[in-house]
Amino acid sequence: MRIAAKLVDEIVAHARQEAPNECCGMVAGVDGAATRVYAARNAEASPFRYVIHPQDQIRIMTEIEDRGEEIAAIYHSHTKTPAEPSQTDINLAENWPDPLYLICSLADPNAPSVRAFAIRGGGVEEVELLVE
Ligand SMILES: [Zn+2]
Repeated sequence: MRIAAKLVDEIVAHARQEAPNECCGMVAGVDGAATRVYAARNAEASPFRYVIHPQDQIRIMTEIEDRGEEIAAIYHSHTKTPAEPSQTDINLAENWPDPLYLICSLADPNAPSVRAFAIRGGGVEEVELLVE
């Protein structure tokens, strides 16, 4: 997936803002390129898990649809662990296998990392993130 550096910065800023809790949100896209980052509330307000707040989810999905764009990715943060899907993340993705999953890790606070994964049928495959 192609994504502008500015959008990656938005995700990292959101992760820092919510730390030590996980942040979450959605990324809109067109033809495999990210177009916009939508921050959402983490309904769990937890350092270990995330659930996109249902009200935010409806609002964001409506906005993305109105713009004629797609839900390209779901993002969340790991404040202490690497940017790799946890078993919790894999289980959660079972209900929603279409979007990619972006994970922003703040494990090294000076070098946040953002990686993208396809999580389908319990399997995890890293997807190249082309930051432009
Ligand atoms: Zn996670």
